[in-house]
Amino acid sequence: GALIAQMLVDPIGMILRWYDELQVAQVSLARLVGVRDVEPVAGDESLAPDGRDVHADRVHFGYRAGVDVLRKVSLEVAPGTRLALVGPSGAGKSTLGRLLAGIYAPRDGRITLGGAELSRMPAERVRSHVALVNQEHHVFVGSLRDNLLLARTGAGDAELWAALGAVDADGWAQALDDGLDTEVGSGGLALTPAQAQQIALARLVLADPHTLVLDEATSLLDPRAARHLERSLARVLDGRTVVAIAHRLHTAHDADVIAVVENGQISELGSHDQLVAADGAYAALWRSWHG
Ligand code: ADP
Ligand code: MG
Repeated sequence: GALIAQMLVDPIGMILRWYDELQVAQVSLARLVGVRDVEPVAGDESLAPDGRDVHADRVHFGYRAGVDVLRKVSLEVAPGTRLALVGPSGAGKSTLGRLLAGIYAPRDGRITLGGAELSRMPAERVRSHVALVNQEHHVFVGSLRDNLLLARTGAGDAELWAALGAVDADGWAQALDDGLDTEVGSGGLALTPAQAQQIALARLVLADPHTLVLDEATSLLDPRAARHLERSLARVLDGRTVVAIAHRLHTAHDADVIAVVENGQISELGSHDQLVAADGAYAALWRSWHG
């Protein structure tokens, strides 16, 4: 009975979900290209970070009124460190990632970067400090150059080629007849998923934010392409503060701090060794990942 009721209700839920996803997409696109009129707030020009530490302080958030997705989430990420978010599907990891990247504002509580509240800063300023990396919205209709310039308006071709080189994309890009003028996106050259991700990484190199939120999701790539990309990604991550939503063992294991997210709350926080010794949810996850 309950299942049938849920199925009957689901179409509406799905439309609402789509609508929300669309809003997420719009806001992140706005962040990327700097379109200001779809930004929820204009931002306080006088507000600037004084440091690189990220703090979440008793953050509450929900996509819809009355439905809490995150509850009283507090954590701090020291500059240059890696935080891994682990936990069951639907726990709120991607949502927390979006908030830490300033894509959504908390309903209650604060997220600060260098003491400045992320949701009150101008979008462009947020973008220069922190970026969300996921597998969505990688390539836009336009030339390869247009796609790269989104990340740094006014960059010269030499900088663009250097960014492509930094992510091992210069080889195939140089082989294109029209080079940086090649039209990509729908109607243009069809890029492989791996090439599309390289473009996204090259944009990161150009934008050069010191903090990255990495929502790795389950990969659409074949293992060889994934390994190749991982090397480029490792180079891009080097020296930056990273919040990684981890679906794999080594992402969590290599982190300085692991936060276990369960049911919208942080249930455990500590290093791999500490959490294995504590023998709680992380230890169980670790054992299941181990095979
Ligand atoms: P995780 O990344 O841990 O799997 P999410 O942050 O994606 O978890 O999801 C947490 C909760 O928020 C889930 O109940 C999910 O259905 C809901 N949710 C996620 N994204 C959206 C969205 N864009 N609109 C509405 N609900 C969402
Ligand atoms: Mg997720």
